[in-house]
Amino acid sequence: MKNTLKTMLALMLGIMMVFAMTACGGSSDSGDSEAAEGGEGGTLKVVTEATFAPFESTDEEGNIIGFDVDMMNAIAESQGLTIEWVNMEFDSLIPALQSNQGDIICAGMNKLAGDRAEKVDFGDTYFESDLMLLVKSDSDLTGIDAVTSDMKLASQIGTTGGDMVQQMKEEGKIADGVVLNQWTDCYLQLQNGDVQGVIVDKPVGEAYLNAHSDIAKFVGDSFGEHEEFAFAVQKGNTELLDKLNAGLAELKENGTYEELVAKWFS
Ligand code: GLN
Repeated sequence: MKNTLKTMLALMLGIMMVFAMTACGGSSDSGDSEAAEGGEGGTLKVVTEATFAPFESTDEEGNIIGFDVDMMNAIAESQGLTIEWVNMEFDSLIPALQSNQGDIICAGMNKLAGDRAEKVDFGDTYFESDLMLLVKSDSDLTGIDAVTSDMKLASQIGTTGGDMVQQMKEEGKIADGVVLNQWTDCYLQLQNGDVQGVIVDKPVGEAYLNAHSDIAKFVGDSFGEHEEFAFAVQKGNTELLDKLNAGLAELKENGTYEELVAKWFS
């Protein structure tokens, strides 16, 4: 009698375990589909580095604002996507997508630089730019070619400007190439006299000069590779990239893109 009861209990336990595993398998599948759509309930994480005004910066309340924010929010709306913005260091952006910690990069990122396009898939170009040398108002420097080997230049780590100051250091053209996490720190080091120049993207330097023309200036012509800013998605996520490109095309078609350029770059 006891053996029969034990057998029945074992059988019921086994049946319950089979049901439990089947149920888990369903949720993990939906989990996979969520991952494809991006995060919890389909919300896509847009990762950026928010000291790059007017593309992205933070306002007094800590909200991320800027051209990229308005553009990507409008693209998401047009394509029926739900997004949330995540602020992190620039050199963490591509690793974030590679480790599934982010779905979209929108950060004034040059799609042509280095091996970036081997790690993520870039969309259509949404802005073009060049690098400039920013110096203090009283500097005698006339341009990037006038920089001497006793000088120090700063730029942001992981960026085209950051790579350039490190390359100039390696080539002995400058005494040090200072790479910092935030553009605001680069400007501070310039004003403190810790560095003699900052290599920065022209539209971003112009935004800084709009508010600091008394203490800084551009010198010389633009230099380095002509840059094409584009958003990026995880390698192979063609479905999402097609939606973002379609959204950008729609903004250009209906005048929203031009309105945003006028709002942030006038
Ligand atoms: N355009 C530069 C790059 O792609 C800088 C971008 C940035 O600092 N947000 O590296």
